[in-house]
Amino acid sequence: MKLQQVSENCFAVLNEKNRVCDANSGLINRGGGVVIDTQSDLSHARRMIELFSKVWDDMPKRVINTHEDGDHVWGNQLFEGAEIIAHRTVPERMKHVADPRAFQKLLNGVDRFLPRLLLRAIHPGVLAIGRQLQQDYDSNGIKLVLPTTVFDERYVLDLDGTEVHLIYVGPCHQVGDTIIHVPKEGVVFAGDVIFRQCTPMGWTGTYENWLKCLDLIIWLDPEVIVPGHGPVCGIEGAMEMKAYLEYVREESKRCFERGLTSLEAAKRIDFGPYGEWRGPARLYANVERAYREFRNEPADAPWDAAKSFDALYEVAKARGIEVEF
Ligand SMILES: [Zn+2]
Repeated sequence: MKLQQVSENCFAVLNEKNRVCDANSGLINRGGGVVIDTQSDLSHARRMIELFSKVWDDMPKRVINTHEDGDHVWGNQLFEGAEIIAHRTVPERMKHVADPRAFQKLLNGVDRFLPRLLLRAIHPGVLAIGRQLQQDYDSNGIKLVLPTTVFDERYVLDLDGTEVHLIYVGPCHQVGDTIIHVPKEGVVFAGDVIFRQCTPMGWTGTYENWLKCLDLIIWLDPEVIVPGHGPVCGIEGAMEMKAYLEYVREESKRCFERGLTSLEAAKRIDFGPYGEWRGPARLYANVERAYREFRNEPADAPWDAAKSFDALYEVAKARGIEVEF
C-alpha cells in the first residue's frame, strides 16, 4: 500500500496487487478533511489512516463511500463521529451486498475441514476465492457502519473555498456509483467506474450507463483520475475502460447470436490487449452482464455469487491461466 499526492490537496492510498478487494482510498485535505472509501478490512483501513496521517492534522470530519461494495466501506467504523456521505440507495444496499457476516463465513469456511470438502466438491471457485481472500484479508471485527448523509443526484461540499462535487452516475458498476470531482484541482475520484490495469467487474447496472458515465468523466477533462482499483491515471484511463467495455459487449453479442452460453463465450473471447490486465478471467462477469441485457433481464436481477466465482474459476482453468480473482 502506498501514499501518492495527486494535486495540491488531493491524495490517494493505492493497493498495489490489484486482486479482488484491493480498492483504493482518497483524501481531500481541506475543510477538516474528506476520506473517500475506507478499505476492505480493519488492518488495511488502519494502514490507510497511518499513511494519510502523514499529511493531515487530524482524523477527517467526513467520509464518502463511492458505492456499496464491502471493499469500499468496511473500514467506516474507524471514523467515529465522522459524517459518512453516499448516494441514497447505498445504506440499504450495503446491508445486502456488504454484510460482513457473509465475508466472515467465506473466510472461515476455508479453514474448516467439512465445509472445505464440500466447497471443493461443489464450488471450487468459491474455495479458490476464499483462499485468496484469506491470504490478503482478515474479516474479524468488521462492523457495518452505514452512511449518515444521503443525496440524490448531486451534492456539493465547500471545503474552505474548494468545491467538491459528488455526482451520482449509477447504476453502472453498482447501484450507488458516485464520482467525486474537485474542479479546482483537476481531480476525479472515480470509484469502481474505473479499474486501471486490472479487469473490471460490474454487478448491478447497465453498459449504457457505464459508458455514459465514462463519457462524463472524459468531458470533465480532469488532469488526474484516482480509479477504484489500480494505479492513478489521466483521461486515458477512462478511454481505455470505455474501449474495454465496448469490446466485451461487441464480442459477447457475437457469441450470443451464435447460441453460446456466457460461460462458453468467456472461455473463447480473445483477451486482446486486456490479457495483460490483472485477473483477465473476470471477463466472465462482464460477458454475463452483457448477456443479461441481450436477454432483456432487469439490471438488478440478482447474482448467484457462488455460481459466478465457479465460472471465473472454470474460465481460468479452460484458458490455462492462473486462477486469480
Ligand atoms: Zn465495487
